Amino acid sequence: MNDDSNILHNLQVIQQRINNACKKANRNSNEVTLLLATKTVSAERIGIALKAGYTLIGENKVQEIKSKFEALTTIPHQTHFIGHLQTNKIKDILTYNVACIQTVDRIALAEKLHQRLLLTQQKIDVFIQVNTSAEESKFGVTPEKTIDLIKQVAALETLQIKGLMTIGLFSAEAEKVRSCFKILKNLQQEIIQQNISNVIMQELSMGMSGDMEIAIEEGATMIRVGTAIFGERIYPDSYYWNEQAKE
Ligand SMILES: *Cc1c(COP(=O)(O)O)cnc(C)c1O
Repeated sequence: MNDDSNILHNLQVIQQRINNACKKANRNSNEVTLLLATKTVSAERIGIALKAGYTLIGENKVQEIKSKFEALTTIPHQTHFIGHLQTNKIKDILTYNVACIQTVDRIALAEKLHQRLLLTQQKIDVFIQVNTSAEESKFGVTPEKTIDLIKQVAALETLQIKGLMTIGLFSAEAEKVRSCFKILKNLQQEIIQQNISNVIMQELSMGMSGDMEIAIEEGATMIRVGTAIFGERIYPDSYYWNEQAKE
């Protein structure tokens, strides 16, 4: 198989996995949006997936959004940011028409985004990233501090909170992975009950190539899949996820 048909084949396999997981969980498969996690993937290969009818991509580095931006402008799609956002990249990222920042995990970042958005009179959707695995190496607000952070972010009118995002524990033990997703789902329910103004809690962004079925069973509305569509990456994920990672 050539690269194009490989990607198309992989997308079919993923769609089947989504359908099966939804069936098992008694959910409708149109409740789960597939976000293509496209870090390290070339614009050309992303284009193959977009032309197959998928419309949502997620990038981890502002630099990568920038370098693929031109090549993808002619293909309709939306971009979400799913990497760790450094405050010194805010001005830059807001020039690339990013629809949602899924990784807001601290008030300093939210406030800087807000200040910049006020200047340009823009609004942006955000998800709050929660560290549900209690791993030091992962970004995200702790579950205990999530609701406080949400209340603070909700006061910033240029930011529209649309949901929560998490990266599950990397473990072969499904039940440990599942407990991460349960934490996110429970937080969502708690936040909905508190009825905080300017907060929409519709999206739960959780589940990746290795754990998407568990995430769907636990209520994911958006799964972020890279490897299972585009193949293995050369960089380890720690390059994108841990404290030492630099742009
Ligand atoms: C890379 C990445 C994914 C996709 O992971 P795969 O295992 O390649 O499917 C999902 N979410 C985030 C935040 C990522 O950085």
